[in-house]
Amino acid sequence: MKDTLITPSERSAARDALLDHYDRRARDLPWRRDTDPYRVLVSEIMLQQTRVDTVMGYYGPWLVRFPTMRALAEADEDAVLKAWEGLGYYRRARDLHLTARVVREEHGGVLPSRADALRELPGVGEYTAGAVASIAFGEAVPAVDGNVRRVLARLHDVAEPGLGWLRDTATAWVDHRRPGDWNQALMELGATICTPRAPACSQCPVGPWCRAREAGTAAERPRPGEKRCAPTGLFALAVLHREGRVLLEKRPTTGLLAGMWAFPERRVDSEVPSAAALATSDPEGTAAGLVRPVDVARSIAEAFGLTPVGSPSSLGEVRHRFTHLEARYLPISIAVTGTLVAPASMQVRWVAADDDTVPLPVAQRSILESWVAAYAHADTLVSRHA
Ligand code: SF4
Repeated sequence: MKDTLITPSERSAARDALLDHYDRRARDLPWRRDTDPYRVLVSEIMLQQTRVDTVMGYYGPWLVRFPTMRALAEADEDAVLKAWEGLGYYRRARDLHLTARVVREEHGGVLPSRADALRELPGVGEYTAGAVASIAFGEAVPAVDGNVRRVLARLHDVAEPGLGWLRDTATAWVDHRRPGDWNQALMELGATICTPRAPACSQCPVGPWCRAREAGTAAERPRPGEKRCAPTGLFALAVLHREGRVLLEKRPTTGLLAGMWAFPERRVDSEVPSAAALATSDPEGTAAGLVRPVDVARSIAEAFGLTPVGSPSSLGEVRHRFTHLEARYLPISIAVTGTLVAPASMQVRWVAADDDTVPLPVAQRSILESWVAAYAHADTLVSRHA
């Protein structure tokens, strides 16, 4: 790999220029206002794969709801997932909750201060450990996220920065006097000036030392990896309802949407060759040999000991993009009667449409809203406050 060397004295000058720029121009973000370790950890976990604008709507309310690590440790999981609802990647919320409990039980309620100890906590990877250790505790360690990777690759004009190179280079760049500010300054540069498609080199405080700028290769650094298309997953989903309430089940503690409440579903990719069409056409099931979402929904009802009544109907396809999966949900609304039977290992409950205590993933929330709009007329809706 070609690495255009930047000398220690150049690095020192570039560092000072970037820190000076950061001091004058850094965005005023709520999590930058103090270096309380718990607050830094919360912000870093929320910011993973999530835009700053989105996190702004969650960070403050989260701290009101769970102001300390202890308060978080004592909360129940549904309350934690509810506060995270809509932020996505719910595994982060469950890991943060678990971390609060590990810190309470194994560290006397005090977050470890060093990056290597932080990495032992649930959901804390190399980046998060470096960010918390440097920002909250002043440890001189790097924190390499996508922005930092891009800035370093351009500064050194490196097309394909490998992990080892990134670690060594990021470590060499850390400012030992102000490691937390340094890491944030680099991230800020990547987020605001050294952006992926259109780096604003003429406004860049480290432009005079940047090898990619000098070579005219900034827009090509780092070389983009191959884009992989996420596979599609097709799910028939049963909106079973009775007396204005819908049935939800708590998802297992591992896998997609772990620990969230959701409508019962079954993945049907291999069973429903043209499921979208079948959800709306062929309502009587004449397509011999094919499994239809409506039949899947009926069989889900029966598995719970419930008897479908009236005509089931499609609520329209809802799509949701996960990191590794494009999910297509085919929700079918079915009125049911009978006594609910579920295995002891499964948590299920009837939920009123306006119950705002249940944490629902975004797609499921949207399906619930469609169901309310289509079926739960004001005079038949059951309110949890009734
Ligand atoms: Fe990025 Fe341009 Fe600054 Fe180099 S000069 S770090 S390419 S914005």
